[in-house]
Formats: sequence, C-alpha cells, structure tokens
Amino acid sequence: CNGSSDQSESFDRIPPIQFTKLFINGKFVDSISGKTFEAVDPRTGEVITRIAEGDAEDIDLAVEAARHAFDHGPWPRLSGFERGRIMMKFADLIEENIEEIAALDTINVGKLYAHGKVLDVPGAARTLRYFAGAADKIHGTVLKLSKGLQGYTLREPIGVVGHIIPWNFPTVMFFMKVAPALASGCTMVVKPAEQSPLSALYYAHLAKLAGIPDGVINVVNGFGETAGAAISAHMDIDKVSFTGSTEVGRKIMAAAAASNLKPVSLELGGKSPLLIFDDADINEAVNIAFGGMFFNKGEICVASSRVYVQEGIYEKFVNKLVEKAKSSVVGDPFDPQVHQGPQVDKKQFEKILSYVEHGKREGATLLTGGKRVGQKGYYIEPTIFADVKDDMIIAKEEIFGPVMSLMKFKTMEEAIKRANNTTYGLAAGIITKDLNVANTVSRSIRAGIIWINCYIAFDVDCPYGGYKMSGFGRDYGLEALNQYHQIKSVVTPIHDSPW
Ligand code: ADP
Repeated sequence: CNGSSDQSESFDRIPPIQFTKLFINGKFVDSISGKTFEAVDPRTGEVITRIAEGDAEDIDLAVEAARHAFDHGPWPRLSGFERGRIMMKFADLIEENIEEIAALDTINVGKLYAHGKVLDVPGAARTLRYFAGAADKIHGTVLKLSKGLQGYTLREPIGVVGHIIPWNFPTVMFFMKVAPALASGCTMVVKPAEQSPLSALYYAHLAKLAGIPDGVINVVNGFGETAGAAISAHMDIDKVSFTGSTEVGRKIMAAAAASNLKPVSLELGGKSPLLIFDDADINEAVNIAFGGMFFNKGEICVASSRVYVQEGIYEKFVNKLVEKAKSSVVGDPFDPQVHQGPQVDKKQFEKILSYVEHGKREGATLLTGGKRVGQKGYYIEPTIFADVKDDMIIAKEEIFGPVMSLMKFKTMEEAIKRANNTTYGLAAGIITKDLNVANTVSRSIRAGIIWINCYIAFDVDCPYGGYKMSGFGRDYGLEALNQYHQIKSVVTPIHDSPW
C-alpha cells in the first residue's frame, strides 16, 4: 500500500471542542468526582482534550433525571406526531452542522472525513426522520376474544433505557439506539465508548436546541467497568441496549439478570463469511470483498473477514485483490486521496498487529500488508492472508482491523458448511449470478443479514442484528421499535352480544 501518513498539515480541520462535560438533566456538568480522562487523536496519538469521567454516582444522577422525565415529564405523554416533529427539528440541526460533527468523529476515531460527511452524519438525520415518521404510527391491536370477552393491546414505552455504545461508528450507533427509543416515548442514559466521547456531547447539545425536554437524553461518558457496569446493574433502568464485544455482552446480560431482570438487546461481534462463486464477475467481486473488509479500516462488526473463493477463479481473484490492496492509500483521514485512516487507539493497533503475528506463526501466507504505516499514529497496512485454515485463530476470532483471511472451496455445500462453522452469526455475503445458489445459500447461512452481490449495504429501513453469539434483538427498521415497548393487554367482558 502507499503509506502517506506524514499527516500533511493542510488537511487538518480540527473543529472547536465545545463540549467536554457530562450532559445530565439538560445541563453540561462536571462529574461528581471531578475526574477527567483523555480524548486522543489516533492520527498522532496526542491528547485532544480532557473529558469529564462519569462513574456510578453520575449514572445515578442521570437515571434519576431520566426517571423523572419519564414518570412526570411531557415526553412519553406527547402525541407521537408531536415527538416526531421535535425529532425532525433535531435532524435539521444535525444537517446544519454536518462538517463540524464529521470532523469531531475524524479526530476522535480516525474515520475518513469524507465518509463522516456523506454517510455517518447525514445518516444520523435520516435515522431520526425515519423513526420520527414512525412515532405516530405505533399501534396496538384489537382482540376479539372468546367467551364474552373483548380486548386490545397498548404499546407503551418501556421506560428508562440505558444505551451502551461502541467507538467504531460513534454517530451511527448513537442514533441507531436513540432514535427508536425517542420515537417510542422512552427517556434514556447514553454511555458512549471511552475512545469516542466527543460527538455524543454535541448531539446532546443539539437535542436540547431542538426542544427535547430536559432529562430525556442524558450522556455520561466514562469507562465500561465503572459507568457501563453501573448502567447494566442499575435497579431503576428498565432496558439496556448494547452494541460491542461478545465478552462484554455476556457481562451486561449477567448484571441485568442479577439486578432487576431488565431486558437487554445485544449486538455483538462477528466473523462474517463472504462466499464468491466461480460465475462471479471478478472485478466486481474484488471491489465488494475489498470494501467489505477494509471499509472503516476493518473496524466494523460485519466486516467480511473470512472470504471463501471457489477454486475456478481463486488465483485470478487473489491476484487482483492483492493489487487493489497495494494501491490503497493509508494516511490522514482528512486527506481526500486517502482510503484508510488510523486504527482507533494504541490498544486496538497492538491487538491487530499481534493477530498478524498469530497468522504468520500458524502458517498462513501473508500476501500483502501486515505492517505499521509511518512512525506516529496508529496506521496499519491493509493485510491479506491466504492458505488460512478454518481452525486458525485469525479465521475464528474477531480482529476488528484491516486483516482478511482467504480460503478456497470446491462446492456450494462445502462453502455453506464452512461459512456456518463459527460461533458468530451477524452477516454474510454471496457473490454469484446463479439465483438458485444465491437463494439456497442465503437460506442456509445462520446470520442476521445476508448481502447478495453487495456488502455492507445498510438502510435504516432494514432490520439489523445477530444470530448465535452475535447477539439478539434488532436495531433499525420498524423492528427496532419493539425493543423499546411493552405490550399491555386490556380485557373487558362484553355482555349479551351475539357477536
Ligand atoms: P470493543 O471491544 O469494541 O471496544 P467493548 O465491548 O469493550 O467493545 O465496549 C463497548 C462498550 O461497552 C463501551 O461503551 C464500553 O465502555 C462498554 N463496556 C465495557 N466493559 C463494560 C462492562 N463491564 N459493563 C458495561 N459496559 C462495558
């Protein structure tokens, strides 16, 4: 790959950092302990600013505010139409500030500025508008019961929600969780990941400007073992929605069970297979496989990290893929010529490089990449291993970085079996012109989303979530609203009716 990480000053567009405190009950406040932690720029490893560090006692305050807003405030009591109107305003304000917010995510997690500007931040407005439009279409059902009874169901907001979110898509994750919860009439406490505290605070500020009442959205930055754990164990939180690692998902579920049995929804890790059949257009397959793996520097839970290629096109496909990887430009994510920015932090950077060493030690063939780019920041070359065996660590564990494993297969049956040979079940892709193969494989793979002749094709109208140890519950789509509702049945006798 073309290393270009000399971080040319001309691409620095550091936005002003306006918000660094906790956002509780409509106000920016210091943490009770007064502690702060560093927000770091992964382009350089340097500290951007210090952020108020929330702990269990700050979570208590935020939950108290959210509880008050739920039990006594206007938000759950407004008509769905009125909630939707305010959410639309929130979306408008995001659109007025796209560049500043996109730049915040770029300096905080190394995301390509161009992607933030055209995908993540406009997508946040779109997600809000989608759920705003749904807010006045949330209905129960009328039940004609037997034995002289009739009934109906009410869909009621579930209450105070705790959202615990990861760092790889700070903006997308925030709205994936917050928008359906808002539409449903819930109030909430959001804990962003400690690596990515900045944009969530900006969104809290815009929510207030849009007219979302105090206490409805609270943002408490802090660490997982303290602030995050306090959410999952809280007795007064009615539901936790989590996206992150399988390991932490387990802890959250255990803490929820041990406290007040709050329901949880978990969107966890993945090791997603992409199956490329002999009849595929090779150039198209290379583009899909490359984007599926290296989009967002491989820091995406659905990454096509296991690529199975049918033997007839294997050599040709691999040569073209490696060529593409070598021409990929790694460097400053503000630079429009750059394809891949830095990994989020030092820990992730070192973890990825240690997986590369594992791959080499286990006998996989390193076709390209595997090294750091530049001397500062957390840049890694797009890395491709061939001759990977299904039981190697690099084929089994989620690396969450730009490292692809290539495998060869003979028959569709074999490919299905090997694709399913994983504890995960988040996503899968199929590239073929044969409709029958596409249909058979998509029904046979146990994963929450299947992409045929495309990959990482998300839409807010398309439910998203995992099978197996990739979790349960669905974000996006109208399905997402189910996470934030209780269903209450109301039954009454109906006397002397012949019907
Ligand atoms: P990743 O591996 O992608 O960093 P994690 O699962 O570690 O993802 O983190 C995702 C989110 O979960 C972050 O907001 C993090 O602070 C939070 N978290 C980490 N540990 C815990 C925990 N024990 N309880 C609750 N939340 C946690």
